[in-house]
Amino acid sequence: MTESDQDEQFYRDTEAAAFPKIDDRQIGLLDPLGQRRTLRRGEFLYRAGQRDLGLTVIINGQLEAFETRDGNEHVLASPGARDFVGDMAMLTGTSTLVTVRGKAEQSEVLTVGAVELRRALSELPGLGEIIVNALMMRRKRLMRDREFAGFRIVAAFGCRDGHILDDFLDKNRVLHRVIDADGEEGRELCQRLNLNKRDLPVLIQSNGLPLRRPSIREVAHVAGLKRALAEAGETEVFCDLAIVGAGPAGLSAAVNAASEGLKTVVLESYAPGGQAGSSSLIENFFGFPTGISGGDLTNRAQLQAYRFGAKFSTPSQALSLSFTDGEYGAELQIEGCPATLRAKCVLIATGAEYRRIEAEGREYFEGLGVYYAATAMESKLCRDATVVVAGGGNSAGQAAMFLSESAKKVILVIRGNDLSKSMSSYLSRRVETKDNIEILRNTEIRKMTGERRLEKVELENVPTGERRIVETTAVFSMIGAKPCTSWLPPEIERDEKEFVKTGASVGEAPAWRGMGRKPGLLETSHPGVFAAGDVRSGSVKRCGAAVGEGGMAVEGIHQALGTYS
Ligand SMILES: Cc1cc2nc3c(=O)[nH]c(=O)nc-3n(C[C@H](O)[C@H](O)[C@H](O)COP(=O)(O)OP(=O)(O)OC[C@H]3O[C@@H](n4cnc5c(N)ncnc54)[C@H](O)[C@@H]3O)c2cc1C
Repeated sequence: MTESDQDEQFYRDTEAAAFPKIDDRQIGLLDPLGQRRTLRRGEFLYRAGQRDLGLTVIINGQLEAFETRDGNEHVLASPGARDFVGDMAMLTGTSTLVTVRGKAEQSEVLTVGAVELRRALSELPGLGEIIVNALMMRRKRLMRDREFAGFRIVAAFGCRDGHILDDFLDKNRVLHRVIDADGEEGRELCQRLNLNKRDLPVLIQSNGLPLRRPSIREVAHVAGLKRALAEAGETEVFCDLAIVGAGPAGLSAAVNAASEGLKTVVLESYAPGGQAGSSSLIENFFGFPTGISGGDLTNRAQLQAYRFGAKFSTPSQALSLSFTDGEYGAELQIEGCPATLRAKCVLIATGAEYRRIEAEGREYFEGLGVYYAATAMESKLCRDATVVVAGGGNSAGQAAMFLSESAKKVILVIRGNDLSKSMSSYLSRRVETKDNIEILRNTEIRKMTGERRLEKVELENVPTGERRIVETTAVFSMIGAKPCTSWLPPEIERDEKEFVKTGASVGEAPAWRGMGRKPGLLETSHPGVFAAGDVRSGSVKRCGAAVGEGGMAVEGIHQALGTYS
């Protein structure tokens, strides 16, 4: 079967799930939440780039959804009576990538606003399921559509800044394509948009406008990811629970807290998903017998949290935490936000970040050959090449297995001499028996060299001192992580490695004296502040454990808030 045959079959198989009809009973449920209006031929329902849109059901007539690319319109769908118009952006509140207008002479539509749509999705379960499944399936179809562009990044091949934009959009699930500035399409685009080398990388938005050398903040803004927590002029924002970090722990807490009626705000400094979002395949997560990509798993969780009304802000880094008296006693300062976030309870779920390899030249090759995740995106960059994976844990093992499918050879560099000491036995067995994986034990990377990109690494067998040079375009650094706790105040006690202490170990902390209760299992040295997942001292550094702790923390938060008393 050719690739295009496979595509056709995929589109046929998913048609019904992606475009279900809304029946009379369902229209009856939505009617009180929305407004009916008439749309004439050519009249716009909305345009690409708009955000916070709701859902539109066509009562009669026909509409047309299209993408404008390089001055041409590409029609994506022509929905008719009882179809609904919408894309994943309607759930997440991000910018829509398509424009929709009336096609029939006159069309009657029912438009349900973004706030009411969320209510419908959580309160009308039968209908919510159909709509959420359809939106997810539509997104899958668009991701597979070779004609659909979404955002376009024009960058020179291997350019670090281009890679950063690609990674940011990828992890935030914004549909985009990367175009090589030196290829035919890239040259044409640069010529047409009057772009020169100094302008690269360029982000071409869904409305066709180019952004030259944009910052991550600008990209987040045009993609509609960045949402203001505060209204203009507001100096304080109040919530029941502020969750800092949207990895598995934070997302699981967001789903539980929002579904249980807590006014929940989630701050995430880069992209929801955390470390799990950079895992190509999580095989040990409960309920997925053939594994699931970390990105898919956490994206589903994020949609679930949205559905229940959790408010996300990405990228929004928590800069500091301090305490005052009163009900909303925790104060958070957030990067780029003029207002203070005041919360009754806080969940620290900031996980951990990768350690850097201490090798000469490493800094220069960050993003130009040194990577911290092995996903489909990175595997494309090293097809048929020799790659080096550093580390002896499960993430290194997974990366080695995953990359061995596309790379010519994978060299796994480990400091110790026994893989099974640090890696799950099922994985170490697979790694040891894979033909194109070579394991170099007792070895460290000493030096990285190359002209514009990484070309060679120098390895040293530490006991013998023997050095070896390997030609490679990519080193995957999987050598462990350190907790993201530098933003926390001294009141939040940490262990010798800076992980946050919780439970019995903080019972003697000054803030607990005279409290009349003991700290909950996941409660920190400050009452009402909780920690879950990898950031917590003594936690099991696994996705399932982080998800479990996120859910458990919410139970403790209810206790602290006195929800049940
Ligand atoms: C490549 C890789 C593969 C893995 N594979 C597996 C696997 O197969 N099975 C398994 O069980 N586990 C696996 N793990 C481990 C698993 O992903 C982690 O245990 C899990 O992600 C921890 O979740 P968490 O929510 O505690 O923290 P994290 O996932 O680290 O998420 C923390 C989040 O907080 C954000 N953040 C940090 N500081 C701030 C701040 N100041 N303000 C706002 N946000 C902030 C970060 O950007 C991040 O998104 C893997 C990890 C990696 C790196």
